[in-house]
Amino acid sequence: MNIFVFIQKDNGTINRNSLEALAGAQQFARATDAQVSAVCFGEVNDQLTEYDIQQVLSISDPGLNSYNPQLYCEAFNQVISAHHPDMVIFGHTYQTRDWVPRLSAKLDIPFVSDCIRIQNQNGLILTRQIYQGKINTDLKVEGSVLVSIQSGAYRLDSIVSGNTSVQQFEVNLDSVKCTVHPGEKFQESKGSVDLSRAKIIVAVGRGIGKEENMPIAKELAEVLGAELGSSRPVVDYGWLPHEHQVGSSGQTVSPKLYLALGISGAIQHQVGMKGSSNIVAINKDGNAPIFEIADYGIVADLFEIVPKITQTLKDHKG
Ligand SMILES: Cc1cc2nc3c(=O)[nH]c(=O)nc-3n(C[C@H](O)[C@H](O)[C@H](O)COP(=O)(O)OP(=O)(O)OC[C@H]3O[C@@H](n4cnc5c(N)ncnc54)[C@H](O)[C@@H]3O)c2cc1C
Repeated sequence: MNIFVFIQKDNGTINRNSLEALAGAQQFARATDAQVSAVCFGEVNDQLTEYDIQQVLSISDPGLNSYNPQLYCEAFNQVISAHHPDMVIFGHTYQTRDWVPRLSAKLDIPFVSDCIRIQNQNGLILTRQIYQGKINTDLKVEGSVLVSIQSGAYRLDSIVSGNTSVQQFEVNLDSVKCTVHPGEKFQESKGSVDLSRAKIIVAVGRGIGKEENMPIAKELAEVLGAELGSSRPVVDYGWLPHEHQVGSSGQTVSPKLYLALGISGAIQHQVGMKGSSNIVAINKDGNAPIFEIADYGIVADLFEIVPKITQTLKDHKG
């Protein structure tokens, strides 16, 4: 089986979600003897040649220097027509949500979007979530398919290193009449807090109750040297600025430690933080969905336990 992974670049930097898709492709390939190639528009970042993949196809055309759905679609159409991959995997980004459905329609190849797992069980099985993430559904796919992978579904640190070669692939985009002219790129977060680089995040949810209680979380963050994150209601109430919000309409984070205080773990929150290396959840509801992805769970009232943790850490620091 031949798998292609599209590597999206944002201002020259490889999009994190594309790399997670590459990790997913490698994982699937190990179980099935499939071959994985990366496809990249523009210059190939050195980083890409250090992964265990068959090849990187580099497509350099001035039309692809900035995002245009029609040109992207035609360029990829030519890649697929020349190489006939069995599966093409994309990160589920704002851009791919825009142009990959066009590609699917153009080539009459199904697009299964926002998948959380790719498996081989007597054939290709794609898992995606439905009903706001309450149910996982498996789809058996036959024939060629385009797949996008939900942010955080595969871990970046699972990417296998290796050496690969770069092949140039020529495209001719002259036939495309551009009727779509993208405007300024949408910024998910313009704030000064860059949670994506934080090693430790203390995240606060609606369980904190009211703004006057926020110092409980802030104190713990301070003693841990952590950044403060939050679920959306905390931002909606105005208790923290939007740049602290983690989730589908906030930041995507992958710290070494993510401490979730009074956060239920709705799917929109999970997609932003489930790539964290260690998740510790404190919630008084033992059935809260956050416990399904937590490495350590404490079923407790945060007002009782958090001040004790903070005090213990302070005593320990001494
Ligand atoms: C299009 C869209 C985009 C969205 N984007 C985002 C996003 O980016 N990020 C995001 O977070 N959400 C987002 N949401 C909202 C999301 O669906 C949830 O509503 C939200 O994540 C819930 O936040 P929460 O867990 O803080 O609150 P709740 O779901 O109300 O959970 C509060 C939790 O606190 C616990 N609790 C209460 N008191 C205590 C206590 N004393 N001690 C311990 N635990 C306690 C409760 O048991 C409960 O589990 C989005 C929704 C939509 C529709």
